[in-house]
Amino acid sequence: MSELTLNQARELLLAKTEKIEETEEILLWEGVGRTLAEDILAKRDQPPFPRSPLDGYAVRSGDIAEASRECPVRLQVIDEVDAGHVSGRRVKEGCAIRIMTGAPIPEGADCIVRQEDTDYGEETVKIYKQIRAWENYCFAGEDYKAGSKILKKGAGLGSIELGTLASLGLEKALVFRRVRAAVLTTGDELALPGEELKPGKIYDSNLYTLVTRLTGLGVETVRKGRTGDNPEEAAAWIREAARETDLILTTGGVSVGKKDIMHDVLKLLNARRLFWKIAIKPGMPTLCAQYEGKLLICLSGNPFGAAVNLELLVRPVLAEMTGRKELEPKRIRAVAESEFPKRSGVTRYVRAFYKDGKVRIPEGSNASGILSSMCGCNCLIEIPAGTPEVKRGDEAWVILL
Ligand code: AMP
Ligand code: MG
Repeated sequence: MSELTLNQARELLLAKTEKIEETEEILLWEGVGRTLAEDILAKRDQPPFPRSPLDGYAVRSGDIAEASRECPVRLQVIDEVDAGHVSGRRVKEGCAIRIMTGAPIPEGADCIVRQEDTDYGEETVKIYKQIRAWENYCFAGEDYKAGSKILKKGAGLGSIELGTLASLGLEKALVFRRVRAAVLTTGDELALPGEELKPGKIYDSNLYTLVTRLTGLGVETVRKGRTGDNPEEAAAWIREAARETDLILTTGGVSVGKKDIMHDVLKLLNARRLFWKIAIKPGMPTLCAQYEGKLLICLSGNPFGAAVNLELLVRPVLAEMTGRKELEPKRIRAVAESEFPKRSGVTRYVRAFYKDGKVRIPEGSNASGILSSMCGCNCLIEIPAGTPEVKRGDEAWVILL
């Protein structure tokens, strides 16, 4: 079978991807990264009353039209109102009410004089400055009016949106439910961190890389596990996992070796193969199928290959499932500060650090089995097939992680 381009592979997956329409109600505290499933209309004005934007005196602009430092206007202070309280008094001619930031502007007043423009008087106050009507005056509904649409269905929720929902008095929001995923690592050589390492074994890093990355992308990993290189065992695990997930990721066993079991697993499951092999490095042998209507994405066991394919292939699927465009990998141009001397017949991804328009390749190997040199990296440099070696000062495409 010939290799697909990354774009072809992506399109094949996206053609089988469905947006999740089920919803759930969540507390706003848990809302970061979620997507609103309903339009939000304001039930009342915000702020609900006209309020003072500063500490000063609520007055009638007509009373202080002639005020200046040389000729102050003296007003009688008839009340004081703090934020959270309401003055029962009305500001009549010749009067003022002392007012603090956030307090409701009493009736009769049409502007606020900053206290710095007065003598801070308690019984009477000298006003040193003329203020026009509605100056220093926050109107009710200045933020939003009752009945207006504040957020639309499909809006992504971050701290500002969640704060805005709270300003409406809401505690909860209706959002689309999260993607439910399962992650299975396969390989007889794998030991779980915490276990003793026996001869011939290595610790399973993929499970940690993939599960924690999915968590960071807002996915709920409802199942994680590991099996040996045993097709029956892996097929049974996937069969179970498919009952409660939208997406299943596996690593290992997708190449052409005797122990590359995932081909048999697909047969045992009677899963429909979508493709095998993408013309990229690392992560070339990726195998994708559909099982029980769910995508089954089988990644290479090589830690760098698995991590790269999660970014390039799985993220677009998550963006489609959630409608969250920001989950798509972001591509930018950057100037290389390091060289990468290898040519490649297929598109190659190189771990790197991006900062301020420049991109630098770390010390250490870029081989697909090597993970630790990727620590601290925040991007991949994309080197298209057939490109000559990357030289210092060359411009390149960079995919931000
Ligand atoms: P495979 O894709 O099964 O041929 O594995 C390719 C390489 O990745 C081998 O060197 C494996 O030992 C290694 N490998 C496979 N699975 C994992 C894993 N979960 N964590 C770390 N390394 C792995
Ligand atoms: Mg293996």
